[in-house]
Amino acid sequence: MNSPVVLRTPQEIARWRAAGSLGLVPTMGALHEGHASLIRRAAAECDAVIVSIFVNPTQFNDPADLERYPRPFERDVTVAGEHGAAAIYAPDVETMYPAGHATTIHVAGVTERWEGEHRPGHFDGVATVVSILLNQVRPDRSYFGEKDWQQLAMIRRMAADLSLPGEIIGCPLIRDDDGLALSSRNVRLSPEEREAALVIPSSLMRIRDRVAAGERSVASLLDVGHGVLRTRPEVAVEYLAIVDPDTLEPLETIDHAARALVAARAGHTRLIDTMDLSAQHSDAAPRS
Ligand code: AMP
Repeated sequence: MNSPVVLRTPQEIARWRAAGSLGLVPTMGALHEGHASLIRRAAAECDAVIVSIFVNPTQFNDPADLERYPRPFERDVTVAGEHGAAAIYAPDVETMYPAGHATTIHVAGVTERWEGEHRPGHFDGVATVVSILLNQVRPDRSYFGEKDWQQLAMIRRMAADLSLPGEIIGCPLIRDDDGLALSSRNVRLSPEEREAALVIPSSLMRIRDRVAAGERSVASLLDVGHGVLRTRPEVAVEYLAIVDPDTLEPLETIDHAARALVAARAGHTRLIDTMDLSAQHSDAAPRS
């Protein structure tokens, strides 16, 4: 397999681009099997795949988090190529935000709660960088993970509202063998923190099992989830919610589609997870 070509500017993308459909997988690098699943899906559906790697400073509300974010670039290029990427788009900050940059995108509604409330400014940073990327790359399809469920809902809304190029495709959340949702931040967990953090997926699985057993009261389901989370008090819960998958508004009862969302800290590492509470539960199984 050829190593992907590394492109640094929209002009280089235009020169590289050939006839046929183009799939874009936007990432911040430190690629893992979750990203790989997006790249493989894009490769299966598009003639060529470009993976963007850009650690976007404007979406970090915590400077220490930006500083500590892992950046194994050479390894990322190899991994992306192994899973079918033909090109890497790795712009520098000045290419994404040229001198005088003054535009910020704010998507109202779906961003108000949960991550929006706990990470002020985060979604504006994501919306702005994703809109810049989509306009620079002009892909036929872009691939995003359902792990960041609220982000995906926001991007769908924004792409529709701004007529951004290409189709937005959501891909299932990938878990590690122990059940923890794969995340570039997992490498920062100590073995003890990682073990404790398993209450995060466990709480969601317990909620899902209660729904499968017929429980429909969200208050009862949240009690069950918090009960699991409390067994590891060193994991600091930011929120646990059961929401309408499209509007992200909290539900009182489960009578149609529903999704659980959770955010918690293990040590200094902030983790999020989500699970479908509707009929299929396709994201419940560990990676095999
Ligand atoms: P990131 O590099 O963390 O910003 O993520 C880049 C893309 O990969 C986003 O669309 C994420 O939702 C997606 N992603 C990250 N982790 C996972 C995972 N465990 N399963 C599926 N997609 C993921």
